[in-house]
Amino acid sequence: MFQSARTKLTIYYTIIIMTVSLFFSLIIYQITTSEIEHKIKSVGQKLVLKDIKTMMMDQPFDYTNKKLNLSKRINEIETLLSNEISNSKKKIAYELIVLNTLILIFSATASYLLSGYTLEPINQSLKAQKQFISDASHELRTPLTALKTTIEVALRNKSVKKNKKITQLLTDNLSEVNNIIALSNSLLNLNRYYNNGSSLDFEEIELQDTINDSIKQINKQAKQKQITIKTKLTKIKLKADRSSIVELLLILLDNAVKYTQPKGQITVESLKDKNFAVIKVSDTGIGIPKKYQEKIFERFFRLDSSRTKQNETGFGLGLAIAKKITALHKGSISVISQPNQGSTFIVKLPIKPS
Ligand code: ADP
Repeated sequence: MFQSARTKLTIYYTIIIMTVSLFFSLIIYQITTSEIEHKIKSVGQKLVLKDIKTMMMDQPFDYTNKKLNLSKRINEIETLLSNEISNSKKKIAYELIVLNTLILIFSATASYLLSGYTLEPINQSLKAQKQFISDASHELRTPLTALKTTIEVALRNKSVKKNKKITQLLTDNLSEVNNIIALSNSLLNLNRYYNNGSSLDFEEIELQDTINDSIKQINKQAKQKQITIKTKLTKIKLKADRSSIVELLLILLDNAVKYTQPKGQITVESLKDKNFAVIKVSDTGIGIPKKYQEKIFERFFRLDSSRTKQNETGFGLGLAIAKKITALHKGSISVISQPNQGSTFIVKLPIKPS
């Protein structure tokens, strides 16, 4: 991210400097050439006048011959002047081109160095922020897991089971703890993928099997809402990091289940399109209004939770992670959706990423 921001800033700085430089170069060219043209022409006029004077004094006075000589001389002077003017223009243009090339080299180098210098504190603070998120998520994991186990054990206790109020309270607590665990896992994942996916392990995977494995993991959730999952899968082998592709599919499937009313339907399709493997996850859910279809891929962006009658939990990190995973595979993710009709998320992954 730092490198791409630095490159962008360098390009912007250089464009600004070069626009100013070219603008002034054009003005300088116009002023200098018209001045030189004017001077050369006045020198020419003086030369012609001098020639006329000399001819008038010559004896014997042969008018026809003098007229002929004079017009020849004027032609000569005119050619000389126009050559001189065009040479001077060429020289000025050449000098300005050299000057602008030097300005371009200097401004690009200076912009690159300066943008690096300007962005470095931001880069450092982003690194510190990432480190903090990662450390905090790690530190939270152990006590949260312990808390979760304690609540689960307490819920199995016979005397607790008898007391409905306490059971309800503990169940609510368990659900909150699960939410925080999900958040800390999402933050850890986001950090992992934003660190340029150095931990990704690319290998040949069978997409059909990977999709089936992911569906198995989401089946329980879907059954609870009586949602059926249909598949239309093609056998495709591609080079990818299997665990992150499973994660990407789980994000899309989990959302499809979350944002589809009970008894709805989810369809997962995979097909080959030239050098790409295409995965489509469609649902018959609540859909996404057009104006939010780009925004949902941003970190922490969530649509109004009142849209779902069940007030689904989430932190708006799933699709940001999904987008990052596809980018790390040099692929893309997009959505086609109609409110109240459903959504189709389309993932395109190159079969052999370069
Ligand atoms: P989360 O689901 O945790 O809120 P996501 O980043 O996965 O976060 O999704 C962002 C938002 O996009 C969600 O809050 C939801 O409003 C919308 N969204 C995602 N998937 C779907 C879907 N299949 N149908 C309708 N809305 C969706």
